[in-house]
Amino acid sequence: MSLKEYNQKRNFEATFEPVGEIKKTASELIFVVHKHAASHLHYDFRLEMDGVLKSWAVPKGPSMNPAEKRLAIMVEDHPYTYKDFEGTIPEGNYGAGNVIVWDNGTYALADEDPSDKLESKAKSNLQKGHLSFILNGKKLKGEFALVKLKTKQENSWLLIKSKDKYAGNEDILLQDKSVISNRTIENLQK
Ligand code: MN
Repeated sequence: MSLKEYNQKRNFEATFEPVGEIKKTASELIFVVHKHAASHLHYDFRLEMDGVLKSWAVPKGPSMNPAEKRLAIMVEDHPYTYKDFEGTIPEGNYGAGNVIVWDNGTYALADEDPSDKLESKAKSNLQKGHLSFILNGKKLKGEFALVKLKTKQENSWLLIKSKDKYAGNEDILLQDKSVISNRTIENLQK
């Protein structure tokens, strides 16, 4: 996995986003969801894998309702350190607009077998276009799946909540504050 595309899209003299470099955590794998008010408001869903954050832009954001399948467009890998990024990407730069860390936590594979190497299993499931995982976040909890669509559009996936005790009709997006700073995207101040 490479961060070449990520680095090419950004001018690091003009944006406060981190420069992309491969970095691995010691223990648990992490996930993060950014809320990003770019030209179109969306949520960026990111899973740590192999020292980078595999990333999907989710226009409508995640849902806790298994019936609400959310389109998730796979985008370029982001650096591990992006997990802590929150702030304003200046006008004129790629993805210009406010970003908050809407949720974060750890994840595990849903069908985890202790004999498996977690990350290699995650990678092979990603290759196959079907990845089931359990999130332990502050907002998102329980099992979810990312399923690649076999349609014309390359990079189109669905983010789907699985049926479990955390599933429900509550609109999780109403919890609109950053989990690291308690700020909303609207009141982000430099
Ligand atoms: Mn984004």
